[in-house]
Amino acid sequence: MNSEQTPGLYIHIPFCLSKCLYCDFYSSTTLSALPHFLEALFKEMAMYRNQFNPFNTVYIGGGTPSLLSPQQLESILIRTREIFDLTSNPEITVETNPADLSQSYLESIREIGINRINIGVQSFDQKVLGFLGRRHSVKQAISAIEASRKAGFHNIGLDLIYGVPEQTIDSWLDILKQAVVFAPEHLSCYQLTLEAHTPLGKRYQAGEFSIPGEDLQYELFMKTPQFLEDMGYIHYEVSNFARGTEYTSRHNQKYWDHSPYLGLGPAAHSFQNNRRWWNYRSVDQYVTAINAGNSPLEETEILTMDQLRLEALYFGLRTKKGVNFEDFRNRYQYDLLAEKEKTLSKLQEEGFISLQDGHLYPTPTGLAIADRISLI
Ligand code: SF4
Repeated sequence: MNSEQTPGLYIHIPFCLSKCLYCDFYSSTTLSALPHFLEALFKEMAMYRNQFNPFNTVYIGGGTPSLLSPQQLESILIRTREIFDLTSNPEITVETNPADLSQSYLESIREIGINRINIGVQSFDQKVLGFLGRRHSVKQAISAIEASRKAGFHNIGLDLIYGVPEQTIDSWLDILKQAVVFAPEHLSCYQLTLEAHTPLGKRYQAGEFSIPGEDLQYELFMKTPQFLEDMGYIHYEVSNFARGTEYTSRHNQKYWDHSPYLGLGPAAHSFQNNRRWWNYRSVDQYVTAINAGNSPLEETEILTMDQLRLEALYFGLRTKKGVNFEDFRNRYQYDLLAEKEKTLSKLQEEGFISLQDGHLYPTPTGLAIADRISLI
């Protein structure tokens, strides 16, 4: 582990008031289980005492963490500090739904030490929010962003979704223009994915609506950095943009560079050295296992060097940092430059990657098709 690879802590809050129609994340709408979940979470924290210290990021995600009261969020942070060590200036993020964010709520969660807020805006078009089955309105999204600033948040991230039915380049650029008015420090722009088992996935399969075809999706993807870079944002990962390097997500970086991270709560994933493990994807199973004194682990996998290499390349091709050939050779025992000279030259000629200063970087076109580039 080098100095950049300080561990991160992820805490999954597995509750939502209602399910969005496209959602594939694990969350339950049975809020009565929340107190039992919190008790179990504190016990799970204790199971990992001394195994990861110190963390320099804490990411409270979900689900909908903003369903928790400021006191409940504070109790999580107090336990975290009691059980684990945190570095002196940790990034502490909470994911939120705009509908939950009153001025007093935001001031309270800022006071307990949360210094980064991610707001699930998704769209500034009320029709799109309705289609996605979101429980907040555009009006609530706008007042949540303004109230977050007023509450003293200097690191605000907005999530947006594109590629919805009837989307045009202009309608997407219009959404982006509305977002940058608030000068958020971070923007995540995700293409709508329609998993078959979600309500929207089923309606799509039944032919009830269509979404932009591949060419338009590609254009939507390419226009996004063109617009946001003009507005001063850095396109640092396929879907992520920051208004300066200091605002890139320190926590998410850990998923992309094989840093260790501990994930707590149902369905949460963890990674350390070459081992990945994850918890039951069910609040009931999670709470029952922990209360019986057992681990809530559903499965563990040990990654081979080949698997680690493939993952490192996959992530490297999705990030602006790219792949440093020397680091790659040291860490994954593979001389990419020597072993894959022909493939690299071909990808460079095709305009998908560039090779400079001992690095492989994805080009903008390369980022658009990062999932499909194969190197080894
Ligand atoms: S708020 Fe997030 S986690 Fe909850 S249902 Fe909607 S998309 Fe899924």
